[in-house]
Amino acid sequence: MFENIKYFIIDMDGTFYLGDNIIDGSKEFIKQLRDKGKDFFFFTNNSSHNAEECLLKLDKIGFPVPEEKIIISSHVAIDYINKHRKGKTVYLLGNDNFKSDCEKAGINLTDNNPDIVVLGFDTSLTYEKINKAANFIADGAEYMATHPDKNCPLAKGFMPDTGSMIEMFFASAGRRPEIIFGKPYGYTVDYVTDMLRCQRSEICFVGDRIETDIAVGAYNGTASALVFSGVTSPEKYKKSTIKATAAAENLKALGQLL
Ligand SMILES: [Mg+2]
Repeated sequence: MFENIKYFIIDMDGTFYLGDNIIDGSKEFIKQLRDKGKDFFFFTNNSSHNAEECLLKLDKIGFPVPEEKIIISSHVAIDYINKHRKGKTVYLLGNDNFKSDCEKAGINLTDNNPDIVVLGFDTSLTYEKINKAANFIADGAEYMATHPDKNCPLAKGFMPDTGSMIEMFFASAGRRPEIIFGKPYGYTVDYVTDMLRCQRSEICFVGDRIETDIAVGAYNGTASALVFSGVTSPEKYKKSTIKATAAAENLKALGQLL
């Protein structure tokens, strides 16, 4: 089933770890795929974190990796703007992590009449920022968002995420983003295949959420593998019209299918 797959693009929360614990068998899965001559990367839609934070977290729970192993929806957005909107000014709705990644990448940030509004998972969102962004969007600035997730699950409860802000701005300014990055969108697949210089047929997305982790494969012609260690139950998956290449209890069980 995964014979031609060179790279597994693995979701983190609910897939590799849960809260502060590595899910049993996740490390063995990485060893198994490496034994087969395959490699892996982590991909998260959560644009409130930067790579450093993800590395710290993985280190803390006992799975240190080099920085190049971490891909975030914000990386896809920054890469797209630098490739296709070079020199354009951006009003950013993002926290200090995203802001500093944009600055490092040479993105021209502004608070005044931007060409583009970029909406990320802004954990430092204020009324002032909402007010500015809504007016820029209503006035016709190009409008992009890092990912579509409506909520970010926590160990207890959840945090309203970028997808919910998209609906708030739609209510106020009458528009939704023309471009959304992250999973399940094609920009993410292009970013990954460009970065790894490989074909779509050589990557497999692995994750616990059907609408993002599995849909990215189903919509864009790549393999995908669903694990039931996070937000999706086998009962929910049975009813889903979006299907994965394979489904397994967790990464450990997926390892048996390699
Ligand atoms: Mg997840």
